[in-house]
Amino acid sequence: MQSRSKPDATPGDAYQREWMQNVRPSGWRNPTPVGRHDLVIVGGGPAGLVAAGVATSLGLKVALVERALLGGDCVNVGCVPSKTLIRTSRLYAEMRNAQHYGAQVPGDIGVAFPTAMLRMRRIRARISRADSVQQLSATGVDVFLGEAHFTGNDSLSVDGATLRFKRALIATGSRPDTPSIPGLAEAGFLTNENVFDLTELPRRVLVIGGGPLGCELAQAFCRFSAQTTIAQDLPLFLPKEERDAAQLLSDAFARDGIEVRLNTAAVQVRVEGGKKLVDLVSDDYRSTVAVDAILTGTGRLPNVERLDLAKAGVDFDTLTGVRVDDYLQTTNPRIYAAGDVCLEHKFTHTADASARIAVHNAFASGALPFGRRRLSTLTIPWCTYTDPEIAHVGLYVREARDQDIPVRTFTIPMHDVARAIADGEESGFVKIHVRERTDRILGATIVARHAGEMINEITLAIVARIGLRTLARVIHAYPTQAEAIKKAADAYIASLRWNARGKRTGRAKPA
Ligand SMILES: Cc1cc2nc3c(=O)[nH]c(=O)nc-3n(C[C@H](O)[C@H](O)[C@H](O)COP(=O)(O)OP(=O)(O)OC[C@H]3O[C@@H](n4cnc5c(N)ncnc54)[C@H](O)[C@@H]3O)c2cc1C
Repeated sequence: MQSRSKPDATPGDAYQREWMQNVRPSGWRNPTPVGRHDLVIVGGGPAGLVAAGVATSLGLKVALVERALLGGDCVNVGCVPSKTLIRTSRLYAEMRNAQHYGAQVPGDIGVAFPTAMLRMRRIRARISRADSVQQLSATGVDVFLGEAHFTGNDSLSVDGATLRFKRALIATGSRPDTPSIPGLAEAGFLTNENVFDLTELPRRVLVIGGGPLGCELAQAFCRFSAQTTIAQDLPLFLPKEERDAAQLLSDAFARDGIEVRLNTAAVQVRVEGGKKLVDLVSDDYRSTVAVDAILTGTGRLPNVERLDLAKAGVDFDTLTGVRVDDYLQTTNPRIYAAGDVCLEHKFTHTADASARIAVHNAFASGALPFGRRRLSTLTIPWCTYTDPEIAHVGLYVREARDQDIPVRTFTIPMHDVARAIADGEESGFVKIHVRERTDRILGATIVARHAGEMINEITLAIVARIGLRTLARVIHAYPTQAEAIKKAADAYIASLRWNARGKRTGRAKPA
């Protein structure tokens, strides 16, 4: 399935119109290309937009080509709408749990799903202002709306016009990888590309896939009061995360009332009487669920097919994307790539960071005075925005073991943290891995309501090589949930052995 070029359902309100006017204005006329551009960027998602900003600040002549909606997945059909809906769904969960907080919500809690979607559209319209075609054009970028195809080593065409470039950046992102389940296409299904067009809440939802997207939206749908089932063909959700983190998420889903089906594959879909009947297989047990909507969240595929990359001499793989080296250079030395189209870690912040590296390296010997930068030097955190959130940075224990790095782990459960208790948010932990006999942080996993905020402190510590010894000296405001990080650092200090004269006998070295 190729990315759609325009949103399908248009509620037709002012927010929808403002959003469209920002990201794909009607009546937009592409400029007439004059001469050669220093940089032509294909794709106007986070990677393309950041690259355009960096390149124009260097005084380069820049063109950007976008075939669908400026802002890419993140603002239009990804991070922004999902996090906005997750916030409203959490409010419903909190209202249902009001008594736990000593509060009372009078009467039944009716869910106003259309109003939640209206709020989402309002917020998306507002955030899209920063990514608007008009704004980008005002910074001096030649904005072309249309699909780009390479026509040679240093040229591409868009909407009948030819753009010649000194350097190009491929930032075409990714799209949902739709599972090939017999009957699914005929029955109709949701992906991130159309789920945010819903105006009515489906009464029963099956979410296929237990990765970040599936987990975040399954919990949101359930909290909006849809009867939600999630089918994951592996024994745990979020297969990359540490097992105890994924287990806490399974427990949270069970508390929310999500029907959790692990080790379960969806094998067949048919429609009867307006219902979608999905056959599920768990080991040898076969069952059928009847639902009104099926949402798939089974991975992403890079957008490489319709670019005519062979004409530009750019190697690619349809599963892993554009092939790049550590400098983000493709097999055509003039052409670089950034973001989801070439990265394993498909996040907005990695799209941003990789775009900066690519532009820097593309012009390193010209406008920029410094040497080239490497992708492999980045420290990349990530977070799944479920409740509790699950965030990670650096090495997992299994990765450290694979590399023969001895690891010591300090874990603080959130039920030992005053603010988490006060907030009724005790599910989770902070777990920090250090290289044995040192305080050097190798990695961390945080499961907590605000794990996404807390992981940034650990990321800073890793990047700046700040060890647990220093973190133990950093005063953390009381009461905050981030105190769990300080407690882990204190546990490290306490673990050092002391001799009778009060001198450390452990051989711990600072980072
Ligand atoms: C539901 C969901 C939630 C997410 N939540 C988060 C989150 O909370 N945090 C986070 O960090 N990440 C999140 N992500 C991931 C994030 O959205 C992506 O990693 C990010 O958008 C990638 O940016 P990009 O610029 O590489 O690609 P994209 O955003 O995909 O943009 C690529 C652009 O290129 C255009 N394009 C493609 N081919 C062509 C062509 N031939 N010619 C011209 N234009 C072309 C596309 O139309 C698109 O606009 C989420 C993703 C989804 C789906």
